Amino acid sequence: MSTATQQHAPKVGFISLGCPKALVDSEQILTRLRAEGYNITPDYDDAELVVVNTCGFIDSAVEESLDAIGEALHENGKVIVTGCLGAKADTVLKHHPQVLAVTGPHALGEVMQAIHAHIPKPHDPFSDLVPAAGIKLTPAHYAYLKISEGCNHRCSFCIIPALRGDLVSRPAGEVMREAEALAQTGVKELLVVSQDTSAYGVDVKYRTDFWGGRPLKTRLTELAQALGELGIWIRLHYVYPYPHVDEIIPLMAEGKILPYLDVPLQHASTRILKAMKRPANIENTLQRIQGWREICPDITLRSTFITGFPGETEQDFDELLQFLREARLDRVGAFTYSAVEGADANMLADPVADEIKQDRLERLMALQEQISAEKLAAKVGQHMTVLVDGYSDEGLLLARSAADAPEVDGVVILDGVEEAKPGEFLKVTIIGATEHDLIAE
Ligand code: SF4
Repeated sequence: MSTATQQHAPKVGFISLGCPKALVDSEQILTRLRAEGYNITPDYDDAELVVVNTCGFIDSAVEESLDAIGEALHENGKVIVTGCLGAKADTVLKHHPQVLAVTGPHALGEVMQAIHAHIPKPHDPFSDLVPAAGIKLTPAHYAYLKISEGCNHRCSFCIIPALRGDLVSRPAGEVMREAEALAQTGVKELLVVSQDTSAYGVDVKYRTDFWGGRPLKTRLTELAQALGELGIWIRLHYVYPYPHVDEIIPLMAEGKILPYLDVPLQHASTRILKAMKRPANIENTLQRIQGWREICPDITLRSTFITGFPGETEQDFDELLQFLREARLDRVGAFTYSAVEGADANMLADPVADEIKQDRLERLMALQEQISAEKLAAKVGQHMTVLVDGYSDEGLLLARSAADAPEVDGVVILDGVEEAKPGEFLKVTIIGATEHDLIAE
């Protein structure tokens, strides 16, 4: 870290109580603080916050710890409590409800998270190898925000759980700090992704984390609410229609997050969905969609489907087409089934011939093209906000509306707009539509 940056590095006060095990915890926290560029100060006045590593062994130690927390609160005001007494968070909060965060012993990660939430990790442009928001491969104005890894389902065509294991959710505070850093670097749209976005937090029992000094549950609704406060576009992908997803739709209706939901359904025949071992059943999906549209009439629904899954009959495929006719989804991606090495579905009987898979794909896409064209034609004359992406190879100026995720959906072609920069929001009027795209001025 350069000397100038070091002088401006945030200062943390530290009080270490208790036995040698607690001392080791303190050393680890102090080491990490220094490694991340924070300064340590012995003065309450100088510190931006104080960490108190407590002891809870006997009554006198509890008292000493509570007194130390009280003193730090009185002298500084911003206090994070860790250590053995922190394992009894109720006791700490009963005496000192103003503390910023409480963790148990050996909780280096949680303590650092709480510190980051209140005084962000200093960034040194001279020595840090990566920008504060990390290295991104997307254009500067949008970014993917991965909230979890792995998956608890075992869909028969998928080997992700075998490759990446069960669901591991990132703590909500950590996700929010990354999102905030991205927004600060100029990102205008965050695309929330994971293998199963609606399952976010199930693995940690929706544990409460901290962001910006306030508690935040590791749960999709709470995360979407917090992301909605960043003032940029938030788009949710890979959301299975579990009941609690209904809680998110009002956030869309209120304009907190984009009225857009990517719900990978893969099929509509109950028989095939069972063979696929898909989460969530399709029976209620039409009613759910109806309910979502009542709450948020502007919602854009995207889904993906597979044609020619082993055992798929003409009747199963007809059910899928009928579902599409009734659901009138806005965006649909479809693929022919192809065996993935190691997937259970490879063992299923009655594989579908390649020509039939392809024929069904074409029929599905033809139907959806018609639905899409009708839905887009209905938008002609509407005014909407679009986010500029830049010029196409043909020199067309392209943007996207709330209804268009990058790479997978359509675009809004800007006609007669002299100049606009990627990442700029423009208010436009729709003057034309094709099967997939809109034209605006
Ligand atoms: S398809 Fe999706 S939900 Fe199913 S196992 Fe794979 S990652 Fe999980």
